[in-house]
Amino acid sequence: MRIDIFTLFPEWFDWLKAQRHVRNAAALGHELATVDMRATTPLAAGRVDDTPYGGGAGMVIRVDVVAAALAGHYGSDPVEVRTQRRVIALAAGGRRFDDALASELAAEPALTLLCGRYEGFDDRVHEHLASDVVSIGPYVLSGGEPAAMVICDAVVRKLAGALGHADSALEESFSPALEGGPEYPHYTRPAEWRGHPVPEVLLSGDHARIRGWRLERSRARGRSLEGRPPG
Ligand code: SAH
Repeated sequence: MRIDIFTLFPEWFDWLKAQRHVRNAAALGHELATVDMRATTPLAAGRVDDTPYGGGAGMVIRVDVVAAALAGHYGSDPVEVRTQRRVIALAAGGRRFDDALASELAAEPALTLLCGRYEGFDDRVHEHLASDVVSIGPYVLSGGEPAAMVICDAVVRKLAGALGHADSALEESFSPALEGGPEYPHYTRPAEWRGHPVPEVLLSGDHARIRGWRLERSRARGRSLEGRPPG
């Protein structure tokens, strides 16, 4: 997979690219690239934003600036890019990112993430340049960069070989293997710590019982996340 991140702050991603599971993915041929939207702006003095029509506080990132960045990088008409790859604009009010969307995106050959700043993008970016508008949660960040990192992290760890253990990503929180629920609790040595023992079933060696216990704990956690009684 190739992920291109369009941002006004490309240096945010230097640290991300240096991390182990991103480097593992790179060794397998996956690529994470950043594109500086300021580098191709058609406006004077590196300007990328303008005041909002209708008034109000803050500045809005111009659609022609984003279009120029897409055209410059892909060498095609910017409105055509989304017909060739998913172009995801990050916005607080977008479609909520979840495990199902992470799996959907992990199956794509290429992704483009557009990071907003200031008051966000001119809405024509969402309407005419993006294929998807995605939010990582119901709160407002000061930029799309942390949201892009969250999405990259969740997507890249689903790519085969990015995690140390091949099965690690299969039976995880919110996966179909756990019926979409949170993961069961894990324990390791010591078997007893400050009088708190590890659940006896996990030491039993009875794999069918362990499997049943884990599924039950996962379901109970799911119920408590939804505010229902865990039992
Ligand atoms: N005025 C906007 C907030 C802009 S925040 C509003 O009220 O919704 C600036 C940028 O940060 C946005 O353009 C978006 O790219 C990013 N951003 C903020 N919160 C986000 C979230 N929850 N998920 C994804 N991106 C977010």
